[in-house]
Amino acid sequence: MSSGTFLLDGKTVSFRPGESILDAARKNATDIPTLCFLRGTTPTGACRICLVEVKGMRTLSAACSTPVSPGMEVLTDTPRVHAARKLNVELLLSSGRHDCLLCESSGNCKLQELAYRYQIDGSLFKKPDQFYPTEDANPLIVRDYSRCILCGRCVQACNELVVNRAISHGYRGAKSKIVTGGDAPYHQSECVFCGQCVEVCPTGALTEKKAKGTARAWETKKIRTTCPYCGVGCQMWLHVKDDRIVKVTAAEGAAPNRGRLCVKGRFGYDFIYSEERLKTPMIRENGQLREASWDEALDLVAAKLKETIERHGPDAIAGVSSARSINEDSYQMQKLFRSVIGTNNIDHCART
Ligand code: SF4
Ligand code: SF4
Ligand code: SF4
Repeated sequence: MSSGTFLLDGKTVSFRPGESILDAARKNATDIPTLCFLRGTTPTGACRICLVEVKGMRTLSAACSTPVSPGMEVLTDTPRVHAARKLNVELLLSSGRHDCLLCESSGNCKLQELAYRYQIDGSLFKKPDQFYPTEDANPLIVRDYSRCILCGRCVQACNELVVNRAISHGYRGAKSKIVTGGDAPYHQSECVFCGQCVEVCPTGALTEKKAKGTARAWETKKIRTTCPYCGVGCQMWLHVKDDRIVKVTAAEGAAPNRGRLCVKGRFGYDFIYSEERLKTPMIRENGQLREASWDEALDLVAAKLKETIERHGPDAIAGVSSARSINEDSYQMQKLFRSVIGTNNIDHCART
């Protein structure tokens, strides 16, 4: 349902009730750059990169948090808008230690992209002498405060997308920083290590520890797949270099996870390279496991099931299917138990 029309860069366009200037502009293929904006969360207008001119307003407005109203006249690409965005990028860049050459996020950094787009030379402001020390006491996430631009995307993601409420803005002024509860390190907080904050961080402030030094963003190819860990079936991207997975990120907007992943799906991918993985069935004999062929193992299982049914009846047997199986496998498992073995003792681990 349209709420009326407004002028966007001189063109009459329609908008829906409650739509922001940014939403309406994107719908009409008008580019407005953003940094702190995170789809699916409440806009904060923190970074001031999406500034636009609204006729009749003295100051520039943040497109992400300004609702459109009928008859409004919005200009997204004027010298004044350009100069303000450039200044704000320059301020953000000078607030930290942005030595892209050494940064894990180089090539995948919104700030780097904007600095290039607005041709920042980095000479305007003095950088702070000191930063909070980098936090890397946990095995999964590195938090480098010197690259944090306080955009708040991580806070929005933790509070509004995954609703874990483990991080927030802390302190004030020059001492501002993103904190976990009680300003404790990640691993001593409420954090469940879903890594959503890492996924949305637009700079190198939050990075995955394991992925460090494994590949530059432009060296990897992305392969879309389904998480193998449980029956939810989250959609994800594998970042692959030389046929090896170096990182996993969520597929944005795709059902059922809509850009979210849990700790297992996001960080648990290296099990596939473990030397300890079972590659063949194992049969226990005299207390020792030995390798066996599939035929041998399945014959043994069938013989044991038959023997148990003959001695104790079919209800002496129970089966639990795995949440890692696809629906069709689980269906076949219950069919085997009900129709072949003759018992209703069948369950699924996801139900417990
Ligand atoms: S966070 Fe971005 S801008 Fe800063 S050093 Fe890393 S790549 Fe460069
Ligand atoms: S890892 Fe997940 S729970 Fe922990 S702070 Fe980040 S978003 Fe919040
Ligand atoms: S850690 Fe990243 S996402 Fe969070 S405020 Fe800093 S730059 Fe933004």
